[in-house]
Formats: sequence, structure tokens, C-alpha cells
Amino acid sequence: MATDASERLRDICREGIELALQLEKVPSGFDRDRNYLKQKEIVLHELGGSNKDWENWQWQVKNSIVATSQLAAILGLTSALQQEIDEVTKTYPWKISPYYAALIDPDDTNCPIRQQAVPDIREIQYKEGELDPLNETGYSPVPCITRRYPDRLIINVTNQCASYCRHCQRRRNIRSELELFTPKNVERALDYVRENREIRDVLLTGGDPLMLPDDNIAWLLERVSKIPHVEIKRIGSRLPVTLPQRITPELCKILKKHSPVYLNTQFNHPREVTSATAKACLGLLRAGVVLGNQSVLLKGINNDAVIIHKLNHDLLKIGVRPYYLFYKQQTCGTRHFATSIEEGIAIMEHLRGHTSGLAIPTFAVNAPGGLGKIPLAPNYWISAGKGYVTLRTWDGCIIDIPDFQEV
Ligand SMILES: *Cc1c(COP(=O)(O)O)cnc(C)c1O
Repeated sequence: MATDASERLRDICREGIELALQLEKVPSGFDRDRNYLKQKEIVLHELGGSNKDWENWQWQVKNSIVATSQLAAILGLTSALQQEIDEVTKTYPWKISPYYAALIDPDDTNCPIRQQAVPDIREIQYKEGELDPLNETGYSPVPCITRRYPDRLIINVTNQCASYCRHCQRRRNIRSELELFTPKNVERALDYVRENREIRDVLLTGGDPLMLPDDNIAWLLERVSKIPHVEIKRIGSRLPVTLPQRITPELCKILKKHSPVYLNTQFNHPREVTSATAKACLGLLRAGVVLGNQSVLLKGINNDAVIIHKLNHDLLKIGVRPYYLFYKQQTCGTRHFATSIEEGIAIMEHLRGHTSGLAIPTFAVNAPGGLGKIPLAPNYWISAGKGYVTLRTWDGCIIDIPDFQEV
């Protein structure tokens, strides 16, 4: 056994070195701060803003990029591409926060930020997909609420977002006009939670709840906190990624008052992990916010084990715990991002054992029609015999272990 162990230890060391070399090759946002600062100047010039404006989230929201000519000036788009964008816009609107736009590499048409933010003609070329793949409408007992589980539910408190993700699963709701999510409807949703004592976990989402003014967020958290049977308050927000300026000391003070608040965000690529997001996450952590990440597996962006591996390391460095890796829904206009489920499982196989358990999310498929999340993992269970089971280790050793259930 001793020689076996020392041999295996040597293999592990060798593998560790190889892995580290692979991971080093994937640049994170931290490594691209200089590119970002350069692009920031270009965006600021185009929008006519100052460095001070840039740090002001309301300025960022008011100056979000929605004109193709502006985007063309920032990224140097051909007129053919501009026409394609305008064509897509007739079906699916687009909007990019100045900050997120500055993360786009203008020299790379496959830039992972660009693919998530800039309309692609394939959105309207593939006709398949559904507007509401998870039947959120069907599982809505009152407006704004989706309930699929016995003890928890989501409240869509707004349909506003800082940037419109091209892979958005709620793109049917996302537009500039505030619809459905009126204060009166949110009030009714809170009544529903109050009247149903089994609801112990309330997830505020949207749109993006942090797009609301501070007063509204404070009001919402206070109302939810006052419901005696609600044990967990959660927020789903992508603003730490697309508009980190939103995480102001004032907002953090509000969140701190209701600590612990659980906030899940959505980083999909290591390039999104920048100094600005690190600062925003640190502010949230100091306010007692527990941070998690829900990535979506997207073809051409992150359907690569080393990219997800690196992303999860970068996230842990800024205090964000990988929570879910989602298989992409069959939402209209997102077919070009589709991966196979097998790819997701292969990524999970790659992660286990090769990185900290903390860096390993749950890979999940949202069952079509709204039946809930289904966790998927590689199979480590080979077979069972009388008094033992045969299992597989992360690196492929097959072992029998005693199973005492029949004693
Ligand atoms: C995803 C989701 C939740 C939260 O699920 P967890 O697995 O607890 O994170 C709750 N309600 C709905 C409708 C959801 O889609």
C-alpha cells in the first residue's frame, strides 16, 4: 500500500502542475484592467461623461447604451452588423450598461462579454424555443409570484435590468416600460406570503431587484422581515456583474440591517471578475450578505471545463461561492447558446477532486414546464453486493466499501 500511495502522490503532483498551467492561460477580469480602462475612456467619450459620472450608478442607468450607432462607435461595428442588430431589436430589445460595455474586447467578435450583451442575428434565425419555458405564468398563484416548491417562492419585484442578457430566460418580461410589477402587485404578492405560513424562504428577483431605488429595497426587505414565518431572505441580482457601481455604501447599510441576506448573482466567465466587481462583493460581504453564483452553461462562452474551473476560483477569491451551474433553458432566441447536458456533466467530472469542494456548484436542469430543478452529477456508484457497494473515486479507482445497512 505504501508504494501505491507514494506513486499516486507523484501522479497527483504532476497533474496539479499541469492543471495550474492550463488555468494560468485563462485571463480573468483582473488581468484585463488595462484593457478595461482604455475601453472605459472610449465609452465615456462617446457618452460625454466624466470619471465621476462613471462611478454613479444612476448615471450608468440613464446612459445605458441602446443606440446602435453608439455601440458601433464603441466597438467599431460594420454597417452590415449594425443592420443585423437593428433587425434583431425588432424582436428582442438590447441594452448594455456603460460599465459592461467597457468590458467588451472590440478586437474579438467571440468576446464572452460581447456574446452575452450584443444582439446576434442567430437569435431570430432559429425559430425554436419558448417564451416562457418554465411556465412561470402557470405557477403564479398571484401576479409577480412563481411558486414551484412547498416551502419557498420567488417574487418578481421589477422587470428592469441594467443590461439585457442575450440568453435571458425571462426575456418576455424585459423591456424599458415598467409592466405588471407595479407596487400594488408587489403588495399583493407580500400578502400571499403572509397568508401562507409554510413559506419560509422568499427570493426577490426580476428583472433585477437592485435596479429599484434604495427606498423601495428597504421597504421590501422590511416588509418581508416582518413576516414571522419567513426565515430566509434572498435576492437574485446580476448587478454585481453588470453594474457594480450599484453596490453603494447606502445600499450595503440597508442590506446589513436585514442580515443575513443571501444574494445570488450570475458570473458566467472569468473576464467578468474585475477589480470593480471585487470591490462591490467586498462591500456586500462586509454588510453580512452571503454571496452565491448561478452560472448558465453557454456554448462558445463557458462550455469548457477549464473556463468554469478558473471562473470558480476567481469567484472564491472575491468571496462568492459557486451555487448552481444551469443547463440553458429552451428560451426563444437563445438556441445558438445551446450545449448538451453531457457537456455539463463532463465539466462536473473535471471539477470534482481537481479543485476545492467550495469551487464546485450543483449542475442543474430546470425541468421544462416548471417542474423544478433537477440536479445532475457524474455517477460514482458502480454497483452493490451483499454487505458492500462498489464505488468509483474522482480519479477513476474502483473500490469496494463495506455497507453495514443489513447488520
Ligand atoms: C430556483 C427557484 C427557487 C430556488 O431554488 P433553490 O434550489 O432553493 O435555490 C425557488 N423558486 C423558484 C420558482 C425557482 O425557480
